Amino acid sequence: METIKRIHHITAIVGDPNENLKFYRDVLGLRLIKQTINFDDPSVYHLYFGDHNDSPGTVITFFPWTNNNYGKKGSGQVGRIAFRVPKGSMDDWKEHLKAQHIQVEMTQLFGDNTLEFVDAHGLELAIVEDGTEANNKDILGFHGAVLLSGNPEGTKVLLTDLMGLKELDSADENHHFETIGEEKHHIVISIPPQPTGRFGIGTVHHIAWSVSGMDELKEWQSKLKKEGFGVTAVRDRNYFNSIYMGEKGNVVFEFATDGPGFFVDEDKELLGTALKLPEQYEQNRQEYETLLPELDI
Ligand code: ZN
Repeated sequence: METIKRIHHITAIVGDPNENLKFYRDVLGLRLIKQTINFDDPSVYHLYFGDHNDSPGTVITFFPWTNNNYGKKGSGQVGRIAFRVPKGSMDDWKEHLKAQHIQVEMTQLFGDNTLEFVDAHGLELAIVEDGTEANNKDILGFHGAVLLSGNPEGTKVLLTDLMGLKELDSADENHHFETIGEEKHHIVISIPPQPTGRFGIGTVHHIAWSVSGMDELKEWQSKLKKEGFGVTAVRDRNYFNSIYMGEKGNVVFEFATDGPGFFVDEDKELLGTALKLPEQYEQNRQEYETLLPELDI
């Protein structure tokens, strides 16, 4: 049974899709790598952003709601999402964000200097420096995420005993972990648990963990079932296959295969430039194109 080596993607609910695009593309410098629809609610976009090298463990995705239905952050959700940036670039980032009139705060949330800020729709983000040398300040991928678990001990046992994350020493009351893969993603369980959250604009919907292939995904499915977790059937998400589960602290975890990847329906240089629909929705393309707001790409 393989252990979990890294984050696959993180998915959040935000507001206006063009405000979302402007923030992640123009302010954070990420690349829109896929425009599609929410397969479970095709009236809503599903926008995927990655870095410019298509690195694994960088994909952040959004359901941009246009109904003004803001959520409430709290237990049962992923909290702050942190990105990793090159060595020595933190001050540049601080100035860059301030120049866009974005409020920043320096904390030690991830056990290291953490530059905290929020996106255009109230989603909590952060930047943490890594030891990587680079001649620019571009985001290198996720640094990690905070889990707002309603049951920190239950979540901790799942992360360490089943998923193989390593617990780190920490100077605060939070639980800190790191994935054992090359990326060493940092996961923080925030203590004490907060009141229960409600999904809506400005909240994170789920975190997905990377699983190498379909056989491993099925192994995870049966292992999690055996441990008493509620697990879904395998869903075909076009770019990966996945299962969803509710963990003990009510945070939605997804386990997603690395393949087939984002090149199944468009070439690398064209990623994100056109609306892509899975086969079952292609017949209604005109309807979606009329319904969905046009993106300023
Ligand atoms: Zn997902």
